[in-house]
Amino acid sequence: MKRLAVTLLGLGFAWTGGEGGAVAEPAVAQAVQGYARLIAPGEADDPRVIEALRHVPRVEFVPPEWRHRAHADTALPIAHGQTISQPTIVAVMTHLIAPQPHMKVLEVGTGSGYQAAVLARLVRKVHSVEIEPELATEAAQRLERLGITNVEVRTGDGWAGWPEAAPFDAIVVTAAPPRVPEALVAQLAPGGRMVVPVGPAGGIQQLTLVEKGRDGGVRHTVVTDVRFVPMTGGRPAGR
Ligand code: SAH
Repeated sequence: MKRLAVTLLGLGFAWTGGEGGAVAEPAVAQAVQGYARLIAPGEADDPRVIEALRHVPRVEFVPPEWRHRAHADTALPIAHGQTISQPTIVAVMTHLIAPQPHMKVLEVGTGSGYQAAVLARLVRKVHSVEIEPELATEAAQRLERLGITNVEVRTGDGWAGWPEAAPFDAIVVTAAPPRVPEALVAQLAPGGRMVVPVGPAGGIQQLTLVEKGRDGGVRHTVVTDVRFVPMTGGRPAGR
């Protein structure tokens, strides 16, 4: 709790001083609070995750008609009936993979590219796959415009993962499959972590942490209830 207060104070300085190119977004302060509530009790929030949120201008990832809401800690519509996630959930998912600078991460569901941009500040390389070609193209262009060079976006079905780039140190799935896709578990490196909202389309899903042990054993931990857009696609063999 003491640590959280210190973190919020730090954000306060950023708003008034505009220090280090940080983004002054109230959503970030709310995300910091929401995130601290959602991670396991007693577990410290990760200052690097908060730093990454502060530096990614969410307003750039939101369609023009929703820009006035970009600073709110809520999910917002993007094209094709999809959404950009709530900053609190982006913080929680980023925290759960325990990002480190050497890591190679797979994201399933590029959407606007916001989660990928946050990850890109914390890890070496992000591979992000998006099933809607237009969203993939727009996100790639947006990331390039923002000078983010360590994210590779491609159009594809995330049920199959990204076999050529596997194994991944971590996988972040930002659309909800009814169960954990096996191809993704297979593409997780030993010691790797995957975070995925598992559950029915249009319902409440369980944000689940999947940890692959060094011996290849897999452990699932449910973190919190969430609501994501469904993971579509899925080849019979890949499911
Ligand atoms: N991470 C995004 C939020 C994405 S919303 C952001 O930060 O903005 C979920 C996205 O997953 C949507 O863009 C949707 O088109 C995509 N999606 C759904 N099913 C998919 C699949 N099988 N493979 C890849 N992407 C998928």
